[in-house]
Amino acid sequence: GLFVYLTGGTKSAYLQFINIPIIISAFFWGAKGGFISAMIAGIILGPFMPLNVSLGIMQNTHNWLIRGAILILTGTIMGYYIKKTEELNREARMRTLTNPITGINNVNKLYDDLESRIKTEGNFRVTLIKLTNISEIERYVNHNYVKDILIGLIKELEHGYGSEGIYSSGLDEIILVTPPECLEQKNTIEYIVKKYYDPIPIEGYTFKLKLKLGVYDYAGGIETPIDIYNRVRMAYEQGEEKVSGIYYYYDKRLEVKRRQMYEIAGSLLNSIKNGELYVVYQPKINIIDNSISGVEALIRWDRGEDTPIGPDVFIRVAEEIGFVGEITKFVLNAIINQMVEWQDKGIHINYAMNITVDELLDDSFISWAKKMIDNKGVDRENIEIEITERVVSHDNEKLLQILQELQEENYKVSIDDFGTGYNSLMSIGEIPFDLLKIDKYFIDRIHRLEIRELVASIIEFTHRVGKTVVAEGVETEEQLNILKEIKCDSVQGYYFSKPLLPHQFEKFHRDFYDMIDMK
Ligand code: C2E
Ligand code: MG
Ligand code: MG
Repeated sequence: GLFVYLTGGTKSAYLQFINIPIIISAFFWGAKGGFISAMIAGIILGPFMPLNVSLGIMQNTHNWLIRGAILILTGTIMGYYIKKTEELNREARMRTLTNPITGINNVNKLYDDLESRIKTEGNFRVTLIKLTNISEIERYVNHNYVKDILIGLIKELEHGYGSEGIYSSGLDEIILVTPPECLEQKNTIEYIVKKYYDPIPIEGYTFKLKLKLGVYDYAGGIETPIDIYNRVRMAYEQGEEKVSGIYYYYDKRLEVKRRQMYEIAGSLLNSIKNGELYVVYQPKINIIDNSISGVEALIRWDRGEDTPIGPDVFIRVAEEIGFVGEITKFVLNAIINQMVEWQDKGIHINYAMNITVDELLDDSFISWAKKMIDNKGVDRENIEIEITERVVSHDNEKLLQILQELQEENYKVSIDDFGTGYNSLMSIGEIPFDLLKIDKYFIDRIHRLEIRELVASIIEFTHRVGKTVVAEGVETEEQLNILKEIKCDSVQGYYFSKPLLPHQFEKFHRDFYDMIDMK
């Protein structure tokens, strides 16, 4: 007001300066601030403020009244909008920093907090807790129950560690940032994990929640929050197992492994197109009647000058990148062509192929396999589908049903690597199969009496249910003789032959029967 007076009165352009204090009050105190300061300004510039100070001319009443009214109106509206925008911004920011399901901080907030922790704390521990089967549970019960489980778990963690360092992502992930080694000291997490392993009753069902934890210890150094988050994920996915199936720890070697994985994955995608894949056939010998009962088709990858990578490694990578189906098609196609060719050459044997559980569970597999086989007019009963025992469980209804369907389609079902899974002789009886392949682990130790007895009882049981036993990885004559003694049906292994290229197998086949003829 004084300024307006000193600059000559309301006629002067400096009149507009009165807006500055109004804007400031609107900014700090919202609509109320805008209103009050505008009113004061209106009065100051009102009846006592001359129009022209030097000439002593006063303003018209209606002039200052209208000016006052306009000031009050704009001040109030301005204040209202400034506050409103601020509020909306705050809400939007909150929304980007919290998980809508749990209402607690999310990964964005984690990144923010990690950023400042890196600057202020030398080291801390990040733990990723994943509820691995929660989305399956959600299929059976109301979403709200599932949400309650998650929130219950968060509450327990907050109770143990305070709410500061807890974040959640989606429905199934909780991230915990604690001082280093805090988890061991407090034992809280172990207690909680154990507690959640008990079945939870919901809506008349009981559920067992499965938790899996990845742990990464940050110990200083230049790392971004994203690096840290990636490392705890890496620990979770492929870390070193500390407590079986629950805790996984980060290890520097994982980075190397992961880089190799990427490299393998990249070149694997082109392997078929570049003609780098081929199939070898390992003979399987029937030791009851001395015949070649069949071959197992095994995939090989020729990467040129690089050291070869075995299928036990690249099949796993292929599974991860969704490429295993292409490989299976490639192998099945090779087998079918080989069947036609060898049939014409008078070689009548069975053909075993390996298949992953995901492919079996995928409904389309059986149908495309059938189409491929029927097109060539080969016999399905000469095809054995091998599935590793590790993935076969007697309570996986869907898988059991598919194995049975395979049998109904005339394929033979072969349980591979038997003894490495969790089935007992009791439960294996519930699984539809035709052949049982005893894992090399047992054959390696078959000279030990207790192992021999164990294998003998497996063979006896399998025969009693009318099925066949194959021994894997037979390398010595001693092993072969023991297996003959305990009445194993067939053997496969380096003792008879390594996996062979087609022309090598043809020679093996000729030589084998020439030898028998000579005897
Ligand atoms: P598997 O199905 O149990 O195959 C037997 C493995 O033992 C083969 O290794 C074979 O070469 C090896 N083996 C056979 N006899 C002996 C022996 O006397 N001594 C020793 N030390 N090893 C012997 P390979 O070919 O490296 O395959 C490894 C695994 O990779 C296979 O185990 C199978 O699970 C998987 N695999 C191989 N080919 C395919 C494929 O086409 N598709 C899928 N899904 N998996 C495949
Ligand atoms: Mg196999
Ligand atoms: Mg095996």
